[in-house]
Amino acid sequence: MHAARSRQKHTSRLSRSKSSSRSRSEAFLGIFSRMAALSTYSLRARYIFPIDRPPIRDGSITISQGRIVAVGCEPNGECHDFGDVAVLPGLINAHTHLEFSRLARPLGRPGMSFPDWLREVIRWRDATPPQDWDADRDSAIRQGLEVSRRCGTTTIGEIARLPWRGIEQRYESMQGVAFLELLGLASARYDELFGAASEYVEARRGKALSPHAGLSPHALYTASPKLVESVAALSARTRTPVAMHIAETREELELLREGSGPFREFLDELGAWHPDLVPLRSTALDYLKLLAKADRSLIIHGNYLSPHEIEFAGRQSERMSVIYCARTHAYFGHDRYPLREMLDAGVNVALGTDSRASNPDLNMLSELRFAARHHQDIPLETILRLATSHAATALGMAATLGTLTPGKQGDFIVLPVSPHEPADPHELLFDSAQSVQQVFRSGAQIHTTNI
Ligand SMILES: [Zn+2]
Repeated sequence: MHAARSRQKHTSRLSRSKSSSRSRSEAFLGIFSRMAALSTYSLRARYIFPIDRPPIRDGSITISQGRIVAVGCEPNGECHDFGDVAVLPGLINAHTHLEFSRLARPLGRPGMSFPDWLREVIRWRDATPPQDWDADRDSAIRQGLEVSRRCGTTTIGEIARLPWRGIEQRYESMQGVAFLELLGLASARYDELFGAASEYVEARRGKALSPHAGLSPHALYTASPKLVESVAALSARTRTPVAMHIAETREELELLREGSGPFREFLDELGAWHPDLVPLRSTALDYLKLLAKADRSLIIHGNYLSPHEIEFAGRQSERMSVIYCARTHAYFGHDRYPLREMLDAGVNVALGTDSRASNPDLNMLSELRFAARHHQDIPLETILRLATSHAATALGMAATLGTLTPGKQGDFIVLPVSPHEPADPHELLFDSAQSVQQVFRSGAQIHTTNI
């Protein structure tokens, strides 16, 4: 208590105020937003979690012109003491589809078969008149971005639907990668889809546009091997990341192996099955090998990757990542997720929420806490990396994001923590129901509550 009081003498009174009036919060937001671009300031917290080194007790982070310039125990310049809080990197959601962000609850019911859930998705889409599709989608994306920001997610790996023109406006405030979704198995669709992919990437090449361009042949059952191969070559040539849903369900692997089963029935219903385009006895490994030729690839889900396929992904971990969507995995009642096996094999596993069509919210802190509860054999320190350093690597943004390291962008979040001192400080983040109090991007405060 005494130490805290003497520290307070040297710090901003604003930061210690317990008043939660709206005008005070707004004033605080304004001060940090304005000072961010120009000035140097430090924040002091009970714990700083840099990720690339152990947590620092009574630590500080110093920001100058939007970048981190120091992390440690000695603040530089004006220091705002935030008291009993943890400061950690802005969270990164490596996989979502924001177009579903207006759903009040997931579609279908827990434990349902995946093809049946896809039927629900189609029914939901068909319920909206075509003339309202664009406005509905844009409004859902805005809502998803706003909610993500408030929950401490500063960077997103988003699956963006065609058309690609207008993506900068649609995702105006988003930092991350907009993976253009390429969906269509028929050979007649190949030219159209690959043409759109090439135009999208070329139009943005060499330009510092946000979000960055990415490509997403949707899944094994909706994108032909020829399209995946061409996209991987385009990715290698233009240094564009590629995301693809792979080994999400047993039914999907049965379709590849046998050309039959519930997925086949579903595709037949839609008139979308093209047996000549998916060679019989294919495996997920065939697609992993195609994607290994890309500059960078994200294997979305990987729920049913075999040990051999996990080893393969582990050997490519600098350029290939697997994205674990923990609560979506649980929603469908899949077999135990092989997270331990993946991490042991050196796979770069990152965390994503997937969409509101299979997850109750887009909160990455909830996703992290859920993953920790369901994988108690994995240290909390490792779990935290799945939504920070590993996720930055997955999206190809590790040079600037994912850890609190001098030289990187000033993206961080402030989380209130309880006053007790657990043996592992990470428990303060995970054994807690506290939500994010403040969010900073490039040193500017972009969200605050209860100051
Ligand atoms: Zn997805």
